[in-house]
Amino acid sequence: MGFIVVRGTGERIDVGKIVAAGQNYADHTKEMGARPSKTPILFLKPATSIIHQGEPIVFPSAGALLHHEVELGVVVARDCKDVAAAQAEGVMFGYLLALDLTLRDLQADAKRKGHPWSIAKGFDCSCPVSEVVPLGRSSVLDDMEIGLRVNGEVRQNATTADMLWGPAELLSIASGFFTLERGDILLTGTPAGVGPLERGDTVDAWLGSELSVRFIVS
Ligand code: MG
Repeated sequence: MGFIVVRGTGERIDVGKIVAAGQNYADHTKEMGARPSKTPILFLKPATSIIHQGEPIVFPSAGALLHHEVELGVVVARDCKDVAAAQAEGVMFGYLLALDLTLRDLQADAKRKGHPWSIAKGFDCSCPVSEVVPLGRSSVLDDMEIGLRVNGEVRQNATTADMLWGPAELLSIASGFFTLERGDILLTGTPAGVGPLERGDTVDAWLGSELSVRFIVS
């Protein structure tokens, strides 16, 4: 079973599912050649897609075009359903930095055929994560710098303030479709600058001043 680790205490929390939002930044929606959606695009990644720092991103055997997407992830504190946006912070345990790795060639094919995105988004190693930072009184999820470098070159750099639906709103909407359980992760979408990864690449990503991760593609 996939798990995440709490910064400071080292506590392990099991992850049941990962609910992810697509096209939640206007500039990324534009680079994908998509029209803005009136409601968030939600999809699921299995908990088995999680890997931790120190583990390699193993280039998948299916698909050829592996894209990076750096994202803020919100970790759910307790089981909940139909949470109002104003109450959403009350069911958040903390936040982490995640990569929503995507097989863009398989996703493009799925979009053309009207097929689901599951294999393009849910393959093994497709969700590298940082430790979880518990939410503190001063945590401000909706205005954090977020960025990603590949082999030292900045590819993505933005602020979570540019999300179309903020973390609380997204959690509220997602909880209308799915019962959220302790340890579930909500991925909040990626800003512009997504691009390909090759075997041997070093990926560095950061979120706010607290979190940074490094992963190697093998
Ligand atoms: Mg994404």
